[in-house]
Amino acid sequence: MMKPLEGRTAIVTGAGRGGRGIGRGIALALAQAGADVLITARTNITDAEAVASAVQEAGTRAIAVACDVADAASVKALFDRATQEWGSLDILVNNAGITRDGLLLRMDEEDWDAVLETNLKGTFLCTRAAAKLMIKQRRGRIINITSIMGQIGNPGQANYSASKAGIIGFTRTAARELGGRNVTVNAVAPGFIDTQMTDVVKDEARTELTKKVPLGRLGTPEDVGGVVAFLASDAASYITGQVITVDGGMTV
Ligand code: NDP
Repeated sequence: MMKPLEGRTAIVTGAGRGGRGIGRGIALALAQAGADVLITARTNITDAEAVASAVQEAGTRAIAVACDVADAASVKALFDRATQEWGSLDILVNNAGITRDGLLLRMDEEDWDAVLETNLKGTFLCTRAAAKLMIKQRRGRIINITSIMGQIGNPGQANYSASKAGIIGFTRTAARELGGRNVTVNAVAPGFIDTQMTDVVKDEARTELTKKVPLGRLGTPEDVGGVVAFLASDAASYITGQVITVDGGMTV
């Protein structure tokens, strides 16, 4: 039987981090559904190469490319490489993201700018590049990774929650602009997912957080990957401009 994403090509940004980030979970879910995947990382390219090997084990093509999503020239080089390798692009997942936490009154401009540049501007730059290709193909799926913090806020994350709320507005506008060309744009809002990004949360706080999750556990990269693969599939053809929350019920 044909897999749901067989013959499709995908870019997943920010799939480096120590082999246990959300990007890896997404790349593997897309590969298991049959897609070829280009994986990027900014600095940890060796980690991205390890993810590419894991994808190849799933039986599809994979390459790892270094890219800083906040840098327009670097993004251009990434999309040039993708078209060179595959000639088309069906799926873009804007997953690269950073945190630089601090209380509002003590937050440096630098920390504000860095988070907005990577999370929000990076999503814009990659989406713009992908949309150019997808419009010509009259088919495409763009999936942006936002966060529940973009919806409910979180003390110490003014920059991060602003960037993630920005991604939601951006998703809705892009969905309206690109819908006529059969390009869907959706966002996935994870809750608390166990990755290097959330390693900073100490054991006691983790236990408290877990108590707030009706499903009684923290999320995994696979939990997010499955939803992204669904949004990339034909089963989700009539869904656009939506935010799908994947938080174990934390924000119900
Ligand atoms: P990680 O910190 O584990 O991974 C982040 C990835 O983004 C890394 O591969 C990193 O590459 C890459 N990256 C960072 N900056 C850039 C940049 N400028 N250009 C390209 N790549 C970059 O994070 P998670 O896997 O936990 O998070 C993935 C996404 O999910 C993020 O957008 C995050 O905000 C979001 N999210 C995470 C939640 C969680 O609980 N973990 C909850 C809600 C949302 P490198 O390693 O090379 O620096």
